[in-house]
Amino acid sequence: MTESPSAAATVFSQPFWQAASEQRLIRPWCAHCQISFFPPALCCPHCLETDWTWIDSSGIGIIYSFTRVFRAPVAGFETPYVVAIVDLEPGFSLMTNVLESDLDQVCIGDVVEVDWAGSTRDLPVFRRASSAGRETP
Ligand code: ZN
Repeated sequence: MTESPSAAATVFSQPFWQAASEQRLIRPWCAHCQISFFPPALCCPHCLETDWTWIDSSGIGIIYSFTRVFRAPVAGFETPYVVAIVDLEPGFSLMTNVLESDLDQVCIGDVVEVDWAGSTRDLPVFRRASSAGRETP
């Protein structure tokens, strides 16, 4: 089996990946705006303040949108799978995978929570809140 591609850390995203390797979900937070943003960057995209910091995320969000993928764009991904945009705290959204044994059950508006047990590469993945803790499909 071909190994799936992995994300490359940048100087800005390194703390995110370090926390993920410890199964912690963190988010950039601007104290000036009192809001998060993502992806991390030199400055807050709202006020251009460079003195932002990382804080913990609740790991609980809502599916804003999603798609089911039946043909992977590159080798190394087992299909089918769900790619979703999950809204977490205000300003903090992630493009991620939603694991579900029955992909037809995934809906916009579902409450999801981070599930490190389902992650195979230190990536935050999510499960619908009502199905968290189940076996990986
Ligand atoms: Zn700001």
